[in-house]
Amino acid sequence: MISPREAVRTLPSYHPPLAGREGLRFDFNENTIGCSPRVLERVRTLSAEELARYPERGPVESIVADFLGINADQLLLTNGVDEAIHLLCETYLEPGDEALIVVPTYSMYRIYMMAAGAEVSSVPAGEEFTFPAEHLKSAITPRTRMIAIANPNNPTGTIASQEELIEIARAAPDAAVLVDEAYFEFCGQTMVDRRREQPNLFVTRTFSKAYGMAGLRIGALVGDSEQMRAIRGVSSPYNVNAVALACLPDAIGDRAFIEKYVGEVRASRSRLENVLKASGIRFWPSQANFVLARVACTPADAAAFVENLRRRGILVRDRSSDHGCEGCVRITVGPREHADRLLAALRETLAELGVQQGATRA
Ligand code: PMP
Repeated sequence: MISPREAVRTLPSYHPPLAGREGLRFDFNENTIGCSPRVLERVRTLSAEELARYPERGPVESIVADFLGINADQLLLTNGVDEAIHLLCETYLEPGDEALIVVPTYSMYRIYMMAAGAEVSSVPAGEEFTFPAEHLKSAITPRTRMIAIANPNNPTGTIASQEELIEIARAAPDAAVLVDEAYFEFCGQTMVDRRREQPNLFVTRTFSKAYGMAGLRIGALVGDSEQMRAIRGVSSPYNVNAVALACLPDAIGDRAFIEKYVGEVRASRSRLENVLKASGIRFWPSQANFVLARVACTPADAAAFVENLRRRGILVRDRSSDHGCEGCVRITVGPREHADRLLAALRETLAELGVQQGATRA
């Protein structure tokens, strides 16, 4: 009987639902109205020949690099940001190396780090889920080879400053420091330019969120050109598919679509935060397309809250088992009419279940 490596046998599990998400999906931070119509049009005009060929990512990489204001040799398109995280772990981590994350955060950092055999240390977020810059710096040791930071962070929506991120990278010169900007469009702060100051800094962007292309699996990894050469060596030359590549220029080109969508999401985020505030529910002001809210005192009551909304056709994500998130749910926000439906259902659920003492600010 064959056996997976020990690092694989002891991996924590991450089980997002892979089927049966009936309803309005405010549970995975996707774009709830979908991609630009220009992208859909491009998909419809794809030819059999285009699908028969192995994908050629070079020309599209040049377009994306121009868009980001960097050289093509500083960029690798990836099969979503997930693959970028995986490639960084494969490139920089040896079994026994130390890796650092801030918790709560995106689950896949820990999983890929552990799969590479690294020992992962978790630094808890500060009060109110602020970025624990000093604590993270003091956790860096000579054996630290990788640090992953989501900025804005998922599931909290909080953000680290550019100075803090540069300081972390400076304090860990032997570590690959990833600043994952999956939610960049909703906050506008980026390290793509400042990355040049520190050759160990990497930045990721995704087309899964604001761009509404999660199903196409396409993301971007930005880093120092020499480091990117090593990472390309680990990657499949055909890691991104031809459909995603064909659509990307149109996705990037339709600025009006992204600006309108992001504007609406920000407005909906404020509406949701106002309803939470008025209901006395504790939440953390967010820079992303979701809001984390403490709707209950116990994981069981948070699960009941999620189930109550589900019966009204609204899916939200139970985050009770994340560090410091007991009783919390994460609610993705969408454009105006989706926010209308979310808020109507939320009011009904709150009226039916009430908010329990202790879950509130008061
Ligand atoms: N990073 C963060 C912080 C995320 O929240 C997510 C998705 N939930 C990802 C990366 C994965 O993005 P992709 O779809 O590009 O793999």
